Amino acid sequence: GYHKILEENRKLYNQVQDLKGNIRVYCRVRPFLPGQSNLSTVGHIDDGSITILTPPKYGKEGHKSFTFNKVFGPFATQEEVFSDTQPLIRSVLDGYNVCIFAYGQTGAGKTYTMSGPKVLTEQSFGVNYRALNDLFHISKERKDTFCYEISVQMIEIYNEQVRDLLASDGPHKRYPSIVSYIRNSSQTGFAVPDANSVPVTSTTEVIELMDIGQKNRAVSATSMNDRSSRSHSCLTIHVQGRELASGVFVRGSMHLVDLAGSERVNKSEVKGDRLKEAQHINKSLAALGDVISALAQKSSHIPYRNSKLTQLLQDSLGGQAKTLMFVHISPEADAISETLSTLKFAERVAMVELGAAQVNKDNGEVKELRLQVASLKAALAKKE
Ligand code: ADP
Ligand code: MG
Repeated sequence: GYHKILEENRKLYNQVQDLKGNIRVYCRVRPFLPGQSNLSTVGHIDDGSITILTPPKYGKEGHKSFTFNKVFGPFATQEEVFSDTQPLIRSVLDGYNVCIFAYGQTGAGKTYTMSGPKVLTEQSFGVNYRALNDLFHISKERKDTFCYEISVQMIEIYNEQVRDLLASDGPHKRYPSIVSYIRNSSQTGFAVPDANSVPVTSTTEVIELMDIGQKNRAVSATSMNDRSSRSHSCLTIHVQGRELASGVFVRGSMHLVDLAGSERVNKSEVKGDRLKEAQHINKSLAALGDVISALAQKSSHIPYRNSKLTQLLQDSLGGQAKTLMFVHISPEADAISETLSTLKFAERVAMVELGAAQVNKDNGEVKELRLQVASLKAALAKKE
């Protein structure tokens, strides 16, 4: 009995160790859509690498290979993609800050990964529904040792303005509320304290909320078509757990970010609002890249303040936080230049793994050991 509990606990502990303080990058290739010619630029794919077939102007080898923590081919299911994300999500309940974001050009599958297709079925649920589902499930499993409260916020960053997609005035006004204040410290865990935070206890409630968020987003989109590809949207989940035996609180959070399309626009072709949007997107994605490379170089100054996006994600990038980036690519030949620049950006992110693992390690370890002791005590108490 007891020995088995210890074994189980060691397994869990090792899992957490594996995920400690790093940034992981998963690449996902979307399948061809109905009606597309299936001339793919994607050559060989294996578990951790992908080879892209390149035209002569990119060099005479004719191909380029990239290495990531994981590569999902066009036939990977939503369930498969999620199962590799699950341990990360579980660590939120142990008091970690987690950030999962979707990067890639418009149409490459970011929203599909995070939310799912337009018409949702249980099988096609994206990461965010599955994540919440999992959190509900585990918090129930732990109900004898912990009492958890879970709440969500939904915001959008458009042209460096932060909007609350769950604001109660949302659907009735032209634009949902602008919330300007982003907190830079992790004291309360709320990066955007002014945005509405809604307690949730079931997946049904979550589906309703996301629907409201989507509608609010659509309200803002009437003046410009397809706003969703030109704004970052972020679902933030806050988890607070109280350990019943000791009364100690554990706080964790998770940002699920569907980034604006990473495609570069041709400056000679766009002007006015469209150019302004493009400049804001370029600036914020570049700021994200800069923060990540500063972390990789263990720079003493990390430029979080250069964009709303990096301010928002500050607690989830670097330090003890765990970050996962899903990098999306389209297989079509005419996407080749965006595909290569996406993969290059992603490789830069993947390098952070070398640098960030040690920061704040002690704190994390103490926290983990305390949790470990708590769960062992509880297991023993049950036995007696
Ligand atoms: P993005 O959010 O990056 O602009 P979307 O997620 O909207 O791209 O995907 C574009 C289209 O491709 C949508 O119709 C979506 O349903 C489809 N799609 C994307 N990824 C997949 C996938 N892995 N399997 C099936 N269809 C996908
Ligand atoms: Mg999208």
